[in-house]
Amino acid sequence: MIALERRLFLSGLGSAALVAGAGFGAPRALAQAVARKVAATPQSALIVVDVQNCFVPGGSLAVKGGDEIVPLINRIAKGFENVVMTQDWHTPGHISFASAHPGKKPFEQIKLGYGMQTLWPDHCVQGTEGAALHKDLNIPQAELVIRKGFHKDVDSYSAFMEADRRTTTGLAAYLKARGINRVFACGLATDFCVAWTALDARKAGFVTYVIEDACRGIDLNGSVAKAWADMTKAGVHRIKSADLAA
Ligand SMILES: [Zn+2]
Repeated sequence: MIALERRLFLSGLGSAALVAGAGFGAPRALAQAVARKVAATPQSALIVVDVQNCFVPGGSLAVKGGDEIVPLINRIAKGFENVVMTQDWHTPGHISFASAHPGKKPFEQIKLGYGMQTLWPDHCVQGTEGAALHKDLNIPQAELVIRKGFHKDVDSYSAFMEADRRTTTGLAAYLKARGINRVFACGLATDFCVAWTALDARKAGFVTYVIEDACRGIDLNGSVAKAWADMTKAGVHRIKSADLAA
């Protein structure tokens, strides 16, 4: 009750200050601070990308600090009616594994039929413990788990479109059919699966946010900076969890 009254008071103050505050710096600053908050509307979906055992410390393709974001993601998810989670879900001997290409090492690049592919240590093999979602991820209302990268000869960083850029996962159609128009992405890793998911969300016409502090990156040769540059250019909004309306 107290929280509700406080929210009503703040939103009322925000409107009043917007009208009356032209000559007064402090109220206007407060109004702007209130106005800048981003709301998780009923037409919003949170996409929790690849928070799987292989991608956290101790996993075969560990992202530094990957486990640190789990409590924050749990907290953020409480504000969303719609939550989709993704799992990288590869066949044994998947084309994205360095081990599938004699003489190649993890993190090298190779040219494949659909373009350049970074090669990775074996990770997220279907049905293994490494492919399981992190045990502390606690989002019981999550309504859909999209598994991706399950075609042996095609990788899929994106939750929307496989790396051949033709094969859809069906996620855009699912979200649109349910009236979703905004997506918020978080998870692992910023510069690969989160960025590709956010870029494809924009391509599919969604208003798109990436919650920076609820992500961690791999950062191969400046890939985190490049990913943010690409996302910004595509109109993806870069926000922090504190920017979300409570
Ligand atoms: Zn993968």
